[in-house]
Amino acid sequence: MENDCKHTLKGCTAIVTGASRGIGKSIALKLASLGANLVLNYRSSSKEIELVVQKAIEMKVEAIAVQGDVSDFQQSKNIIQKAKDIFGSIDILVNNAGVTKDNLILRMKEEDFDKVININLKGAFNCIKHVAPIMLKQRKGKIINIASVVGIVGNAGQVNYAASKAGVIAMTKSIAKELGSKGINVNAIAPGFVETDMTEVLSDKVKESTLNNIPLKRFGMPEDIAEVVAFLASSSSNYVTGQVINVDGGMVM
Ligand code: NAP
Repeated sequence: MENDCKHTLKGCTAIVTGASRGIGKSIALKLASLGANLVLNYRSSSKEIELVVQKAIEMKVEAIAVQGDVSDFQQSKNIIQKAKDIFGSIDILVNNAGVTKDNLILRMKEEDFDKVININLKGAFNCIKHVAPIMLKQRKGKIINIASVVGIVGNAGQVNYAASKAGVIAMTKSIAKELGSKGINVNAIAPGFVETDMTEVLSDKVKESTLNNIPLKRFGMPEDIAEVVAFLASSSSNYVTGQVINVDGGMVM
């Protein structure tokens, strides 16, 4: 029986890139809790991804791990193709894989600019490029891109990262316009400061000044982002496309 991904995600197939840790792991487990079968991408954390796969299987869904660097066009194609070969359809794509390589413009190396753009922006393009024909054929699909509030307001020391996330936001809106008439919703989430390995490395001074600017007076948890992904992945958001939802405790408004 074909599932229409209504009310629950039972029987739907979701791909989550960068699912070995942090926000991606939390998204994967939230989608599993709603019944989605999972294709979980990672780049190098093979032990961690196996634990996520195991946890998902314990929730009575099917889950596989697929290694691949999303910045590589061919490897992205392999990730999407594997999902299609194993599960037959792809209902949800979450472009979550991302990195930072912070520095002020005067000190930023060209390779650090290229690396962040290639993973965060081109990686999302690569996966959408390969999933779009499949979703078009199905005449349905949900694409959710994890951007950042930094892509909206900018951030000193993150020229590369902010540019990549601004690009993700513009790409989200453009693809939403291209694919809307074919039953495909494309949205972005812009997290604020979320407690993961990515933010762990920041100094106490940066953390303190960030917290001062968060009206809800706490940092985000990966689960805060996963809840909004679940909404955008479900039929509850069928009339929402081309949007950027800030999940940031009110930091940017
Ligand atoms: P994280 O804990 O550092 O995890 C990053 C994930 O991305 C890992 O699973 C990693 O895989 C994967 N990854 C990195 N490069 C990859 C590549 N080339 N191909 C495939 N996978 C790759 O980061 P996070 O904090 O959870 O961030 C997740 C997303 O949220 C990112 O897009 C980030 O920009 C965005 N975001 C985070 C925050 C925050 O405050 N944390 C705020 C705004 C937006 P491996 O483990 O195998 O390396």
